[in-house]
Amino acid sequence: MLREAKDAGFEASGAWLRRRFVFCAGRVRADRGLTARALARAEADQRAAAICVLCDEPRRWWWCRDRFWWDEDDLSPQDVFALVYEREVRRQRRLERAHAVLGTRSRPEGPRREPVPRELRRAVFERDGGRCVECGARFDLQYDHVIPLALGGASTLENLQILCAGCNGRKGASP
Ligand SMILES: [Zn+2]
Repeated sequence: MLREAKDAGFEASGAWLRRRFVFCAGRVRADRGLTARALARAEADQRAAAICVLCDEPRRWWWCRDRFWWDEDDLSPQDVFALVYEREVRRQRRLERAHAVLGTRSRPEGPRREPVPRELRRAVFERDGGRCVECGARFDLQYDHVIPLALGGASTLENLQILCAGCNGRKGASP
């Protein structure tokens, strides 16, 4: 099990030319510190790998992807990196899913009712001969979804037909 070490970080110690950066996690401190240059190198490396920054058996602390972690399971650097990376991906997916849910919920109601594109309307009109497919009327025509949008019907040529307002109303009223 890999856990984030939120109380971990590097502390500067020593004066100027002898300054070292010592890794600390709670009350545990590394024996030796890093020079500023070594710290900068480690910081660059930890983005693409897991770096063991302190070992206090059985616990080891890691620096990986701008966070500190610890484990007591003898994980390899590759294990740690894979786990950290997987966490990031999972978190990203969770965020995307949450935003997607918010996006659907914020619509006023039900499935989106997009207008039937003009090309499609023309194709339906021509196929149905410009008249109501029920009664043949040529006035008050409407484009009707055979399978309603609310039930998963699509705006396609096969799922659209021409009805007059009267027939369309009766269709809506029928059980
Ligand atoms: Zn009709």
